[in-house]
Amino acid sequence: MRFFVETFGCQMNVADSLEMGRRLRARGFRTTKQLDRADVVLVNSCTVRDHAEHKALSFLGRLADWKSAAPGRLLIFAGCAAERLKDRLGRRFPQVDLVAGAKSIGDFDRLLAERFPALPFDGQQEWVDAWGWAPGLGETGLPGEGVTAFVTIMRGCNYACTYCVVPSVRGRELYRPAASIFSEVKERAAQGQREILLLGQTVNSYRPQGPNPGPEGREISDFSDLLQMVDAVPGVARIRFMSPHPHYVDERLAQAIHRSARVAPHIHLPVQSGSDAVLARMRRNYTREEFCRKVDVLRHHIPGLAVTTDFIVGFPGETEEDFLATLRLGREADLDGAYTFKYSPRPGTVSAQGADDVPDSVKEERLARLMEETDSRSRTKLAQLVGKTQEVLVEKGASEGSGFVWEGRTAHCRKIYVTSAKTHTTGDLLSVRVERADGKTLYGRVDA
Ligand code: SAH
Ligand code: SF4
Repeated sequence: MRFFVETFGCQMNVADSLEMGRRLRARGFRTTKQLDRADVVLVNSCTVRDHAEHKALSFLGRLADWKSAAPGRLLIFAGCAAERLKDRLGRRFPQVDLVAGAKSIGDFDRLLAERFPALPFDGQQEWVDAWGWAPGLGETGLPGEGVTAFVTIMRGCNYACTYCVVPSVRGRELYRPAASIFSEVKERAAQGQREILLLGQTVNSYRPQGPNPGPEGREISDFSDLLQMVDAVPGVARIRFMSPHPHYVDERLAQAIHRSARVAPHIHLPVQSGSDAVLARMRRNYTREEFCRKVDVLRHHIPGLAVTTDFIVGFPGETEEDFLATLRLGREADLDGAYTFKYSPRPGTVSAQGADDVPDSVKEERLARLMEETDSRSRTKLAQLVGKTQEVLVEKGASEGSGFVWEGRTAHCRKIYVTSAKTHTTGDLLSVRVERADGKTLYGRVDA
């Protein structure tokens, strides 16, 4: 029995797919990369923008043929679009056997058991901890897993950004107990996953109320404590986190990152807009100036910090002036890179109740200008690295020509191809001299 996974959307979805994959493994399934060999297909969907949802649904549509080609095949539709559309899915996609919305990921195994009582079960259920994570099922090697371990530390979001569908499909914030996080990180590191990516919609709002003992009974009261806890786990070479919210960025967090030996000097801090009027209508709870001040606090404490962000263009009512303020922010805050999105009205959100009044042609044009600006800034930053030495975590290896070419990432999360006369393994940390920068990619050689 084999299962095939297709994941759309963010890294939280990748983590959820891995979690569901482990449950399928516990029931005797093995993974396959070939759809036609699969007995179970798991589609994990995204709904953050209309386009993302559409991609997941059209993939689902194409699975009608797969489903009818052999009896007994099971199709599971999971994630954020599944949560949003739930009961409405049946009519359009009768091929779906089980809907596991984003709020039910922790409940996935129970859903499986209820819907398919005949599925095998290997009796490890009692190992599942309060968070639903099963320490005994922690083997690596699921599709999407490599040198980086995706570790979910919280689910849901207590914010109410007016454009965003996430709070309605993922629910209120729920914090994973520190002990559960600690045991997973320890296990992943022991298995050779050298980079830990801590995940949550507003990952730095991690603040369990009530007792939350970590190792040796030490209380873990917030995200800064948690970083220090993970930093002390033997075998961990690098720590990242996604996505922090500017509201919870302060001196304490900056100092915690600075003190931690392994937290990478890179923060992806979504700002969304550089215009105060737009930020207020988005209900982001900060102004442009406050965002810049937070970036300054981080830079003050963390030498060589890279800051990347997310921008949305064409939010309702966005004027050319508002957009220009966004365009200027990259230079003013000296941002290292950005993901840029066109505003997409999502059903049920506050901003979707009003008109989507920036014409698509204007959104396209602003998106192109913003991408040009952020890409050229990013290219300049990369070019400045030529001749410098970077610490590179090896993600993949491949032999080519005379030497070996290894693929990895710098501490700033930049992709780099590394030539070396020596053999390395995935997870090695190399000291690499950058020789060339090309677009968004770096090329270098291991320092002798
Ligand atoms: N929790 C994260 C982001 C989650 S969604 C945070 O608050 O930063 C990831 C990104 O998608 C957001 O940062 C935003 O830039 C974009 N996004 C979310 N809703 C959107 C919408 N309706 N239209 C366009 N982009 C959107
Ligand atoms: Fe969406 Fe805002 Fe929550 Fe991020 S903080 S998930 S953008 S509501």
